[in-house]
Amino acid sequence: MEMTMSSEPRVGFVSLGCPKALVDSEQILTRLRAEGYGIAPTYAAADLVVVNTCGFIDAAVAESLDAIGEALAENGKVIVTGCLGAKGNVVRDLHSSVLAVTGPHACEEVMAAIHTHLPRPHDPFLDLVPPQGIKLTPRHYAYLKIAEGCNHRCTFCIIPQLRGDLVSRPVGEVLQEAENLVRAGVHELLIVSQDTSAYGVDVRYRTGFWNGRPLKTHLTPLAAALGELGAWVRLHYVYPYPHVDDLIPLMAEGRLLPYLDVPLQHASPRILKAMKRPANADDALARVRRWRQICPELTLRSTFIVGFPGETEAEFEQLLEFLAAAELDRVGCFTYSPVEGAAANALPDPVPEEIKQDRQARLMALQAGISARRLQGKVGQVLKVLVDAHDEEGGAIARSSADAPEIDGAVFIENGGALPVGEFAEVRIVDADEHDLYAELSRRKGKRRDRPLAPE
Ligand code: SF4
Repeated sequence: MEMTMSSEPRVGFVSLGCPKALVDSEQILTRLRAEGYGIAPTYAAADLVVVNTCGFIDAAVAESLDAIGEALAENGKVIVTGCLGAKGNVVRDLHSSVLAVTGPHACEEVMAAIHTHLPRPHDPFLDLVPPQGIKLTPRHYAYLKIAEGCNHRCTFCIIPQLRGDLVSRPVGEVLQEAENLVRAGVHELLIVSQDTSAYGVDVRYRTGFWNGRPLKTHLTPLAAALGELGAWVRLHYVYPYPHVDDLIPLMAEGRLLPYLDVPLQHASPRILKAMKRPANADDALARVRRWRQICPELTLRSTFIVGFPGETEAEFEQLLEFLAAAELDRVGCFTYSPVEGAAANALPDPVPEEIKQDRQARLMALQAGISARRLQGKVGQVLKVLVDAHDEEGGAIARSSADAPEIDGAVFIENGGALPVGEFAEVRIVDADEHDLYAELSRRKGKRRDRPLAPE
């Protein structure tokens, strides 16, 4: 039952940043509703505004600072949280009138600041909050954060400085949240954390409990248990530690989506060492081949950085050779960007901007051919898809097991306008390009749409 009281204090919420920040926003929103606060859709309707910021790259810092400025101008009462809040005085230097600044995953601190500046209502009507919390993503999929922080010290990254070392959420709590989400109609769980394979390392894989059943705080039993819930389970940010091999049979058995997002970043051993990455490229290639033998339908996604300081043409070509051999399905490529505070900024021989851009374009061109070939191989297959939306031409936009929301391609179903959003369907693939698939419900030939391949 939804109730609103005109006297309820109302909080406006601006959520910027990555899926992990989104999870923080959802937790704060859930708490606000639990305590009887209203959520205002506009600055004018809000008594106070919370801005959840991102501070990962310079463009995100600028976007966050702009958002804070806008909230101050439009409303005046602003509380800042998120990654930018952890970066010293950046926020207060520019916007001295903000009421409070906290770092990321600081739900308690944000709530305390809200209580100070906008006292909580006397009569919290707790039953307004559905047990699954408030999701900012469409109801049929949800991000599930299993840990916070990271124990690595990759030289291009400041996440450990911003978010600290790895802290795993208790396995029972994660599974309870997942169960609530599935019960509330979520059909796809997207498992995220900075380093998903490291789940449980910080608590020495201690045994927790879910519905009275003992379970280790470890990715393999967690993934297996999530797979029992009946929803799609998609794993993100999975570093290729040895135990990742144990997940592949679960994918082959259909208990987890046959999808792995493995951030490899490079293939040159020297660059990987300079990046302080734990991985080794030869090993990565052998693993990829073995995984595909066990689970041929596996979709592999990875991201790479080109133009890392000191990257030579030969080292870049090593990366291209790796990509040509590995034939990954989905690849994102970033040019190296010196994030303030990152150790790699001190490395010699920065790569000129135009060479970085050129390498990114060459990598994406190579990958476009690989992706197109792999997608072409799906033409004629019948695939299970999850319908995300309808388009304006009477069709539906869906995703298969190979497509994570927002970052991968989609399946366009020309005659799918009657398919309910948020539900599964079976479609026949009739065409493909470098990024997307085109499908139909019947045997009619699908119409192909133009969509440029953008670097992800
Ligand atoms: S890039 Fe490296 S240091 Fe940064 S979050 Fe990922 S594993 Fe951790």
